[in-house]
Amino acid sequence: MAECIFCRIAAGDIPAQIVRRTPDVVAFRDLNPQAPIHVLVIPVQHHAAARDARGPEGEQLLGRLVSVAAEVASELGLDPPGYRIVTNTGRDGGQSVEHLHLHLLGGRALGWPPG
Ligand code: AMP
Repeated sequence: MAECIFCRIAAGDIPAQIVRRTPDVVAFRDLNPQAPIHVLVIPVQHHAAARDARGPEGEQLLGRLVSVAAEVASELGLDPPGYRIVTNTGRDGGQSVEHLHLHLLGGRALGWPPG
């Protein structure tokens, strides 16, 4: 989608601090980090949110995103001590960008429950 900022990052049209690029998934540093390490993991293909990732194709997509997030977490030295993967969905979930993404957060002890 031309107007989607994460589609534009995936396409290389706008700059981002890319930490992993594959044909189907891109991981890059969050512009407004909420932890010492804060990486976003997105599918190259546009999906608005986790609600779009249902059924067998959705399972494959989410599994792929989590797998890449776990690999990046290890590469960035987060495992151990540990990290969090979260995806926000919709208004009450705190989603601000309508392109499915996992937040990978780590580098400090993370509180629970989140705000
Ligand atoms: P969410 O609020 O869960 O939809 O997460 C969207 C995230 O995208 C926020 O943490 C933003 O800081 C981040 N973000 C927005 N624009 C950019 C950008 N151009 N590059 C990197 N991160 C961004």
